[in-house]
Amino acid sequence: MKLADRMSRLGTETAFVVLAKAKQLEAEGKEIIHLEIGEPDFDTPGNIIDEAVKALKNHWTHYGPSAGLPQLRQTIADEINRTRPIKVNLENVVVTPGAKPIMFYVLLALVNEGDEVIYPNPGFPIYESVINFIGAKSVPIKMREEKQFRLDVDELISLVTPKTRMIIINSPQNPTGSVLSEADLGAIAEVALKNDIYILSDEIYSRILYEGKHNSIVAFDGMQERTIILDGYSKTYAMTGWRLGYGVMPADLAEQVAKLQTNCNSCTASFSQIAGIEAIKGDQSEVDKMVAEFKKRRDIIVDGLNSIDGFECQKPKGAFYVFPNVNKLGYSSSELEGKFLNEAGVAALSGTSFGAYGEGYIRFSYANSVENIQKALAKLSDLVKKL
Ligand code: PLP
Repeated sequence: MKLADRMSRLGTETAFVVLAKAKQLEAEGKEIIHLEIGEPDFDTPGNIIDEAVKALKNHWTHYGPSAGLPQLRQTIADEINRTRPIKVNLENVVVTPGAKPIMFYVLLALVNEGDEVIYPNPGFPIYESVINFIGAKSVPIKMREEKQFRLDVDELISLVTPKTRMIIINSPQNPTGSVLSEADLGAIAEVALKNDIYILSDEIYSRILYEGKHNSIVAFDGMQERTIILDGYSKTYAMTGWRLGYGVMPADLAEQVAKLQTNCNSCTASFSQIAGIEAIKGDQSEVDKMVAEFKKRRDIIVDGLNSIDGFECQKPKGAFYVFPNVNKLGYSSSELEGKFLNEAGVAALSGTSFGAYGEGYIRFSYANSVENIQKALAKLSDLVKKL
């Protein structure tokens, strides 16, 4: 088939490829422990499910406004005002099927072909994919192990050119679990203000934080006009399959993003949105429980990996991933991904799934039970002795 040229520039998320391989091995009768996929293993809290069922019975089964239902947009705006030191209202909010479309729409709306976008590497692979797809230049900034996988601000400054249109940041981060400090955010804000650059701030893991409080770059003077906050329900409320996310941005940009949505998927599922109001306004104790459980698992997997020869693993401050350095094992990251899956029955992702600077690392998601994490650690320990 003769595809359009732009398709050669589109990347993907290899988590889904590894998941398919793992499922194939399971179909052949092998036991696989899934530490590859980035989704909470918990069920969506019951109060949210009850609201969705009620919404379906109450006929929330029709199209809604492209920007999202006003009552949900207002709920999100109130939540942003409560959790970040800014003042927004419903005109600043666009609700999307999952948070991922916010990346696509915002890049389409703000970045011209030939413009440059700086993005974290290793980082969520869709940033690089979409930047390239729209014909912009993707400029990676390295997340440095020696800086607890944060970026180096001087390096960021050196990457800025007159063509830099946007900087993408993600804190807490996928795949490293790193958290940008308030000083980092202040310095990035200064770069953005000085050079007239937009910030796409991916804050989808903002509630999955193990120490301190979440800081958003939007809090710095002058940043509200140039920041798009991306957030959503997938991780916080274990709602990956509901497809519910949002962006918070200047109102004139929100109008354009809603227009893109009209052209693409019309709107977000109405009953998901009604349930999304309950998720934010209702009891949060399930979220607290999930975060406490993730923290327990983090400590087990970090200590477990560090006790195996060849793994050097930092303790991440947020999200539900660890990103150990595996250079001492003597294989490339993608070779190790294959060995872990085929020889140990542990599905994990090569660091290079998150960009070229991910070489030398493996990402394990600890969104799995303590029992399975311990089993995986034992299997990895046995395998490493044979390598
Ligand atoms: N941003 C980051 C950093 C992620 O890891 C993910 C999902 O893995 C998303 C955004 C998208 O989440 P969703 O589209 O499910 O809301």
